[in-house]
Amino acid sequence: MSADFSWIQPEPHGIYIPPADCWIDPSRAVDKALVTHGHADHARGGHGKTAATPETLAIMKLRYATDAGAVPVSYGETLRLPGGVDATFLPAGHVLGSAQILLDRAGERVIVTGDYKRRADPTCPQFQVTPCDILITEATFGLPLFIHPPIEDEIGKLLQALADNPDACVLVGAYALGKAQRVIAELRAAGHWAPIYLHGAMERMCRLYEEWGVELGELRLVADHSKDDMRGAIVVCPPSALNDRWSRRLPDPITAMASGWMRVRQRARQRNVELPLIISDHADWHELTRTIEEVNPQESWITHGREEALLRWCQLNQRRARALALVGYDDEDD
Ligand SMILES: [Zn+2]
Ligand SMILES: [Zn+2]
Repeated sequence: MSADFSWIQPEPHGIYIPPADCWIDPSRAVDKALVTHGHADHARGGHGKTAATPETLAIMKLRYATDAGAVPVSYGETLRLPGGVDATFLPAGHVLGSAQILLDRAGERVIVTGDYKRRADPTCPQFQVTPCDILITEATFGLPLFIHPPIEDEIGKLLQALADNPDACVLVGAYALGKAQRVIAELRAAGHWAPIYLHGAMERMCRLYEEWGVELGELRLVADHSKDDMRGAIVVCPPSALNDRWSRRLPDPITAMASGWMRVRQRARQRNVELPLIISDHADWHELTRTIEEVNPQESWITHGREEALLRWCQLNQRRARALALVGYDDEDD
């Protein structure tokens, strides 16, 4: 490469932009942060200033009870940073408000994907393929075995289990930000308009999605209803509630879990999941490799997951790549 791109530095605690003294998704509190999306491992609280999409800032305000230092940047808008760096937020298709961040300094272009997926999702705009010199890509599901099936198939399994067990309920474990709302919106798209019951911990985030225009249909709180009300219904709860005492109030629950990790049988067994649903908000192996081909960067920097296999794929395909060792990111938000 002709340019050295020293204005962008991967550090253990995030991507650092020295001329702007600014971080992307830092895993500890800093003066100035750009945040790709609201999942806790990307959106820490306590920064001096936080630039993010208005949706992400709303999610952070809900989580951290403050919006001090919030700098809203809508999709397609550009924020001018010190040191001649422009930051443009582009849809990433991961969860409500999720963005890729395009950095441009004197025509040198770097994209940080944050978490992303390529498939249509009724809760957020679709990932936008944008040319750049360096693509900093996530690799949560960066192994060829991770191929996510069409979501319609998984939603179909869920509805079938419901139809087969009219006196029971199907309890779906799903993360409170993104996965829960996507599963509900996909159930509605599949024509399931019956009331869906929520664990209390899901309520506020579902309401926030509705405030941002995502239609979720009739949602009821489990706490307000009797066992008999919930027969033949879908109940959504955080994964941590799947096997705890709370679920005893439900009528003969069939336990399901919506996660990309449900591809791995052992993970389903660990959580006593009877109905594993392979539903992920991350790119699968094909989406990761196709995105590198379509964006066609001079170099790919791979982070946030299983870097080695994607690195090897890049080498086999004569593409320059390196693995970054960032710390403090987890796979909770699958
Ligand atoms: Zn995420
Ligand atoms: Zn993540």
